[in-house]
Amino acid sequence: MNLQGSGFIEADCLAPISLKHPALWRSACYANGKWVEPGTGSRVPVTNPANGKVIGTVGYLEREDLSRIVDAAYSAFAGWRWVPVNERSRLLRRWAELILQHRDDLAAIMSLEQGKPLAESLDEIDYGASFVSWFAEDAKRLNGRTIPSHLPDSHLSTMIEPAGVAVLFTPWNAPSAMIARKVAPALAAGCTAVVKPAQETPFSAFALAYLAELAGIPDGVFNVVLGEPDLAMRTLVSHPNVRSVSFTGSTRVGKLVLQACAAAGIRKIALELGGNAPMIVMADADLELATDIALSVKFAVSGQNCIAANRIFVERPVYHAFLALYTTKAASLVVGPGLDPATNLGPLTRTANLRDSLERIDDAVGKGARIMLGGTRHPLGGNFLAPTILADVTPDMRVCCEENFAPVSGVAAFDTLPEVICLSNATEYGLAAYVCASSVATIMHLVHRLEFGMVAVNSATFTGAPIPFGGGKASGLGREGGMEGFEPFVETKYVCFGNLGLPRTEVPEALASGRMDSA
Ligand code: NAD
Repeated sequence: MNLQGSGFIEADCLAPISLKHPALWRSACYANGKWVEPGTGSRVPVTNPANGKVIGTVGYLEREDLSRIVDAAYSAFAGWRWVPVNERSRLLRRWAELILQHRDDLAAIMSLEQGKPLAESLDEIDYGASFVSWFAEDAKRLNGRTIPSHLPDSHLSTMIEPAGVAVLFTPWNAPSAMIARKVAPALAAGCTAVVKPAQETPFSAFALAYLAELAGIPDGVFNVVLGEPDLAMRTLVSHPNVRSVSFTGSTRVGKLVLQACAAAGIRKIALELGGNAPMIVMADADLELATDIALSVKFAVSGQNCIAANRIFVERPVYHAFLALYTTKAASLVVGPGLDPATNLGPLTRTANLRDSLERIDDAVGKGARIMLGGTRHPLGGNFLAPTILADVTPDMRVCCEENFAPVSGVAAFDTLPEVICLSNATEYGLAAYVCASSVATIMHLVHRLEFGMVAVNSATFTGAPIPFGGGKASGLGREGGMEGFEPFVETKYVCFGNLGLPRTEVPEALASGRMDSA
C-alpha cells in the first residue's frame, strides 16, 4: 500500500467540470488519515454515464491492505469512543458545514459520475448533510436509564456504548447521502467507520472523506476504501475486530453480506435493500396532486430509487383521466446529461440496467401492456432511456414483479379495496408505499393493511433525518434515521449495583396481604 501526499487524481483526467475547490476531486482511498493507493493492484476506470467516457481511475486495495485499515480503525476506536460527546458533535457539525459550503462542487461530482440532474444532486447533498447535523445533536441524547429496582438494596441502570468498528457498504444511486446516513450515527455514537462505496461512484465518497479530514475528524475514525467488491466485502466483514455491518444495495448482495457475516461470527447487522413500491390512487384523490406525486416518485433519479413507485394502481372511474394527465406531465421531462441545468431526467448509471429495462418493456408489451409514452431508448443514445409509461400492466409482467430500477412506470386499474391491497402486497419487498385519497377512513383502512415500512399519504416527500427509513420482508433489517438509526452502532450495557446499604423498610403485613381496615 502506498501512501500519497495529496490523493489528487492524475492531471489528464477527463472531468468536464470545473470545481471551485479542485482539491475535492480525489482518486485515492482514505485510510487512517492518509490517501492510499494499492501497492500492486490495477487501476479501474470510472465512466460518465451520460457519454461513456472515462472520468478517472481508482485503485482497488488488496486483502492485506483492507485488513490493516480495519486494524487502524480499531486502534482509533480506542480513542474516539472516549472523546466527549460535545467534541464529537462539534467535529460532525463542522463536517456538515463543510459539506454545505461545497455543495455546488459535490453536486457536480455526483452528477458527473452518477448521472442524476444537478438539482437532484444538490438536494442529495443537503439531505446527506442533514443527517450529519441531526446525529451530531442527537448523540447528546443517547441516554441510558435508571430502572426501578426489583432487587433489594440495589441500583439498576443502563448505559449506551458504541459498538466498535463499523463497516458500511453504500450504493451508486445515492452516492453521498447513503454514506452520510450511515457514517453520521456511527461516528456520533463513538464508533469508527470503514466505508466501501460502490465502484461506479467513488469520487463522491472520496470528496466526503476529504471534507472529513478538513473538519478535523481524527485519523482512523472515518475511512473510505475500494476493492474488488466481493473480496472487499468478505475481507471487511470477516475481520475479527468488526462489530457492526451496515449495507445498502440490492437484496441479492444483501443476502451475500448476511451469509458472509454469519460465517465470520456474530455482528450487528443493518440492511437497506430493494423495493417495489405500490402507489394507490383512489377516485376521490386530487388528480393534479396525484400525478405530480407519481411523476416525482417514479422519475426521480431516472427511476433508480429504492422508494420509486413502480406499480401505480388507479381506481377505475379516474383511470383514464389519471393516465392522460400523467402522460402529459411525463412527456415534458427534459432528458439529458445531469450536468446540463435544463435536464430533469438523466441517463441510467449502468448500461446493463438499460438492457434489462428494454427487455422488461418488451415482456410487458408481449403480455398486453399499452405503451402510453416512450418504450424505447432515447434519441440521445448511450444509457438514455425515454421516459416510459405502460398502461394495463398485470402482476405477471416483469415491470411489476421485479424491482424496476428505471424511468419505466407501470399503471393499472382496480375496482375494490381488497383487490388493490392484495395487488400492492403481492411483492417480496416491503419498503415504501404511496396512497392518494381524500377519505380519511379509506386512507386509514389502507395504511393499516399495506405491508410496507413506510407509507406516504398525499405526499411525495417523506424522508429526512428524523424519520426511521427502512422496510421489512426482502427490503431489509433495521432502520436508518431517527433514534432508530443509532441501533446498529450501539450496545446497551446493564449495570446492577448491589449491597448499597440503602434503608430497608418492611412492608406492613396488612398492606402486603392487601387487607386494609375499612374503618
Ligand atoms: P448492489 O447490491 O449491486 O451494490 C451495493 C454495494 O455492494 C456496492 O458497494 C457494490 O460495490 C457492492 N457489491 C456489488 N456486488 C457485490 C458482491 N458480489 N459482493 C459484495 N459486494 C458487492 O446495489 P446497487 O445496484 O449499487 O444499488 C441499487 C440497489 O440498492 C437497489 O436494489 C436499491 O433498491 C437498493 N437501495 C436501497 C436503499 C434503501 O435504503 N433501502 C437505498 C438505495 C438503494
